Amino acid sequence: MHIKKNLSFTALRKILSAVFENLPEQRQTAKVRHSLHDVFMSGFAMMHFQDPALLQFQRNLEEGLRQNNLRTIFKVKSIPKDSQLRDIIDKVDSNRLEPAFDDFFAALQREKRLEHYRFLGDHYLVSLDGSGYFSSYDICCPGCLTKESKNGKIRYEHQIVQAAMMHPDMKQVIPLAPEAVKNTDGADKQDCEIKSGKRVLKKIRKSHPKLPIIIAGDGLYSKQPFIEEIKAGMMSYILVAKPDDHKIMMEWVNEQRQLKEVSRMESRDIKGRTHVYEWINEVPLNGNKETVMTNYFEYWLIDKGKVGYHNSWVTDIPISKKNISELVRGGRCRWKIENETFNTLKNQGYHIEHNFGHGKKNLSMNFFLLNMLAFFAHQILELTDNLYQECRKAFGSKRNLWDHLRVSIRLLIFPDWETLLLRILRPSGFI
Ligand SMILES: [Zn+2]
Repeated sequence: MHIKKNLSFTALRKILSAVFENLPEQRQTAKVRHSLHDVFMSGFAMMHFQDPALLQFQRNLEEGLRQNNLRTIFKVKSIPKDSQLRDIIDKVDSNRLEPAFDDFFAALQREKRLEHYRFLGDHYLVSLDGSGYFSSYDICCPGCLTKESKNGKIRYEHQIVQAAMMHPDMKQVIPLAPEAVKNTDGADKQDCEIKSGKRVLKKIRKSHPKLPIIIAGDGLYSKQPFIEEIKAGMMSYILVAKPDDHKIMMEWVNEQRQLKEVSRMESRDIKGRTHVYEWINEVPLNGNKETVMTNYFEYWLIDKGKVGYHNSWVTDIPISKKNISELVRGGRCRWKIENETFNTLKNQGYHIEHNFGHGKKNLSMNFFLLNMLAFFAHQILELTDNLYQECRKAFGSKRNLWDHLRVSIRLLIFPDWETLLLRILRPSGFI
């Protein structure tokens, strides 16, 4: 049971404890009642259980029973009040939480859990996607992006670019540290997704200097400056290329099509659908003198005579009959970040936009990071923890399982995470 031990809930909790204990203490020590570790671990626990009322309920248990689940499961010595928690989390720089993403990743790597994510030989597919996680007309902080809406009102927003490792055959995604799209003091122009995406590339390389990476992304990224940035980071790419954004390249492709220089392959699957692939290597990305040369491919899924899916991409990987269907699977795989990561956050109970507060400095982003770390921990448990997998099966939906977990820890005290799972799986009369 070697694997279980190093990727167990306790192992992940210890990784987080080490990161939280390392946070810089800027308060006067005489006034400190709750350590930074306890404050951040309490915040993480709220996200882990998706329960904004968690601290209150655990304080009640503590008052009545001199014991609580934050202490037993998360090693929190003293539970802060919600307002204290917000004030303290607000003041800590968001980048101090980033090592936790690298440490979770390293734990997976050590246990050879990344093997399942190998793509096109030795590579790993890392998808980039931008998303908003906060929008309001009333609440804002200095890091908010501002947008003027039609009625002249200012809307405040927070956006991030999220990178995540994924594989067409794997349900779980492995999030890397996200990068905020944010306003910084003195910058006259607002930040944007592309600039933030470039910072993400640098960050990925810093954290994983030797990992063979293929960056996947939508049409926003298939522009020369971004591709050059990917190549400078010694990475490959599979990026959506919409014909309207690439007029010169498409003229080129269409000319070659007429000359029968574009390769074509068709196959039929067991469901009777037809997959049509077309590709050509070495085409200019644009009409610039110094244009990047790239490889272009297009795909149609035809079901009962109708086009069910159609898209086109560019890649630096030379395309052949052997890898074209895998390249398409990789190109299509990027949807998972929208649907699995963010929709999980939005629809399956990860109420990040509400409930937890916005703050004056870093609170909004730090809560987002703690939430993403909780999501990451859940993904690891799904991948590696037999007991958790058994619970997922037994309770059907994720929501049902977590409802049971939330209620259980409000009423009873459990010595550890495993006992909690065992109890809800096989309830007993008395404990
Ligand atoms: Zn803000």
